[in-house]
Amino acid sequence: MPEHDLNRLPTTVVPSHYDLELAPDLDAASFAGSQTVTLVVTEATDVVVLHALDLDITDAWLVQGTERISATATYDGPSETVTLALDRTAEPGDWTLETTFTGELNDKLVGFYRSTFTDDAGVTQTLACTQFESTHARRAFPCWDEPAFKATFSIRLVVNEDLLAVSNAAETAVDQLAGGRKRVHFAPTMHMSTYLVAFVVGPLEASDVVDVDGVPLRVIAPPGKADLTTFALDVGAFSLRFLTEWYGIDYPGDKLDLIAIPDFAFGAMENLGCVTFRETALLLDQERSTQAELQRVADVVAHEIAHMWFGDLVTMGWWNGIWLNEAFATFMEMLTTDAYRPEWQRWVDFGLARSAAFDTDSLTTTRPIEYEVITAADAEAMFDVLTYEKGASVVRMLQQYLGEDRFQAGIRHYLQTHQYANTETTDLWDAIEEATGEPVRQMMDSWIFRPGHPIVSLSPSADGGLTLGQERFSFRPDPASGAEIPPSEVRLVPVVARTGFGDGTSEVHRILLDQAELTLSLERRPDWIVGNHEGNGFYRVELSDEQLAAVGAVALASLSPLERYGLVEDEWALMLAGRGSLPRLLGLLRSLANETDLSVWQRIIATLGSLHRLAPDDVRANLEAWVRALLGPALLALGDTRVPGETERTSALRATLFEALARIGADTTRQAQAAAQFSALGDDPDAVDADLADAVVRVVAATADEDTWQELRVRAAGARTAQGRLRHQGALADTSDEALVLRFCALCLTDEIRSQDALFLLRRALANRAASPAVWSFIEANWETITTRFPSSTVPRLIDGVRGVSDRDLAATIATFVGTHPPVSGATVIRQHLERMWVTVALAERVRSELAPALP
Ligand SMILES: [Zn+2]
Repeated sequence: MPEHDLNRLPTTVVPSHYDLELAPDLDAASFAGSQTVTLVVTEATDVVVLHALDLDITDAWLVQGTERISATATYDGPSETVTLALDRTAEPGDWTLETTFTGELNDKLVGFYRSTFTDDAGVTQTLACTQFESTHARRAFPCWDEPAFKATFSIRLVVNEDLLAVSNAAETAVDQLAGGRKRVHFAPTMHMSTYLVAFVVGPLEASDVVDVDGVPLRVIAPPGKADLTTFALDVGAFSLRFLTEWYGIDYPGDKLDLIAIPDFAFGAMENLGCVTFRETALLLDQERSTQAELQRVADVVAHEIAHMWFGDLVTMGWWNGIWLNEAFATFMEMLTTDAYRPEWQRWVDFGLARSAAFDTDSLTTTRPIEYEVITAADAEAMFDVLTYEKGASVVRMLQQYLGEDRFQAGIRHYLQTHQYANTETTDLWDAIEEATGEPVRQMMDSWIFRPGHPIVSLSPSADGGLTLGQERFSFRPDPASGAEIPPSEVRLVPVVARTGFGDGTSEVHRILLDQAELTLSLERRPDWIVGNHEGNGFYRVELSDEQLAAVGAVALASLSPLERYGLVEDEWALMLAGRGSLPRLLGLLRSLANETDLSVWQRIIATLGSLHRLAPDDVRANLEAWVRALLGPALLALGDTRVPGETERTSALRATLFEALARIGADTTRQAQAAAQFSALGDDPDAVDADLADAVVRVVAATADEDTWQELRVRAAGARTAQGRLRHQGALADTSDEALVLRFCALCLTDEIRSQDALFLLRRALANRAASPAVWSFIEANWETITTRFPSSTVPRLIDGVRGVSDRDLAATIATFVGTHPPVSGATVIRQHLERMWVTVALAERVRSELAPALP
């Protein structure tokens, strides 16, 4: 056997086509398979090494014409491979590998797995589906399960005749078989990676076909949900058309199915032509959905369809490229949703996602966007906020810096050059560089391969210029976390700044800041400065007290929503870094009292919510009064109910302000209003508009007694949509009654809560200030169950709930326990959650005594 990297398959045998037949037995939770793989032996060999996990290969032959070489299988657990030892040496040339095998339909939500749902008659139904990314195709059929081993796939599924069977390509024929079975044939796929292969079998219903310029589009769901598919069909058709045009390349599949899976560990998966989703990301009741729920479906559908080209047609050569695959699809998701519903202001709303990336990237335990990936676990760790949100933010910054047309030309050039093949990250930069002539590779390398991000300070210089400085930004670590402020550094920052003047004019400056400090000469001394013009730069801005006051006093009307958003974002970050102050922050928030943008208000409210969490008991009432004074007039200006013709973002803003007033402002009038509306919604689900109804549930839940809590549970059980179920189930975690929260925690470990949702809901309980210590004790006591019952990828999501813990003793308890009980996956993410928790503790201890004097 030739020497090779033990984590990679040898390249002595290279597949080009899989002819695969699988016969799943849903009741027995097993499947039988047979396949013939067309391949090339590149040098004489006695073995064929490929991936197989939890499969039993019953027969294996290497065949060339009439020559048949028998092979014996030996499995290697750690590398998830099987070595087929040949009876005699195979000479270089074209061969086929014939195997038969059996496997189990597992319940781990990866590989070929079972999912169940309850139909309208109350009967439990079973389906079988796949999730192969990153390295799980090997659980369904023996294969070369690395992204660079691209091949074509001809798939056949043998299933009960009453079941729907779907795969990547169009159905071409059906054979009726004995015993009520049928064999469904699918057309050969394009040349693609194994992680994109998919099949779904079950008692499912397909929507009517929508013809999208020749591509048949369907939404597939459990029966009886046809009315919940119309929105996905609409956004799917729009996205397919928009992206085909934007990329300038035809859709690479022969049909497109969007499929709702009742049990799904991730949001969705971009299998070519056979995209799978968790229900909340695909199905909804258009008339009773919030703007956020509609947007989520639009986003996820657009994201997955964007992958059909970027990811499926052109694929990373190895798993280190996952970040680019996801960052770019996230970027295209915003671009597509923004085109679909311009009134949603998608790029403004993206500020919230960027904030989440900033938050983790301000920790000393952050990581570079791209890093060396050796094992499958390394690859799984890449699916985090730094890949999706920071990655997409950096792509957006590049696009805005280059200009949209030049950027698009670069992407088209890249896709044309590499279609049906695999790439390195640098291939993309090189293609954009060729198309634009800009030093893209040098610029992007300093963002991709280095952790963290800069803070840029801007101030008028003594000689009338503008002085810009940069250093690495960091939250102030707490000594208990063991973290130390990282050394500062200089990177290539594409700063876009704006200087404004009293006469209403302004000037934009584009500066590639490549040193620690630089002074720009200006013709006029500015009255105010915006350090991140249009808010697309992935850097923070620090203004002097005078400059911040000037912006707040005279320039707010000249700022875009995303720029105003950035002011709040940056001031809060400065607080966490120990370099801001409460008077600065509260002064800024006060100046934004007339704000009308949803995203800006969401950022303000998140900031107030954080202060509310850490406020000492004797100051909380003052803070609540301050919140009512700030938010009350904004809600009054909007009115209590939806105005015909208002935008969906306006309705969402009303609900956001209403909830914040009732919860953070403890506004008893709003609380009473919510109680009455909650009661009305029990009789008529349309008594209140969808956004307000959603807010009402959370407001009522926050002060829920036993009866209300049981009512929430009843409404969760009776919900027709996954959104409705989760809205009410999630609210069960929000009550300030600790005993009820603990009952909810216990429910999370039962079948009442879907296992795909349980740890997300438990996280919400953990983040409930009134119950965090008790919930943490519950988690410790049930750790064994939590870490075995649920997908390992969701355990770090649970730990996410500790980020808001501000009590030093509880933080120490948590840190000690997690240190001695490390979850099997997500080590880096968990270190980040713990460090962030200590940042909260340190902030709370600094701010508690300052809060009372800062409030009037
Ligand atoms: Zn994706």
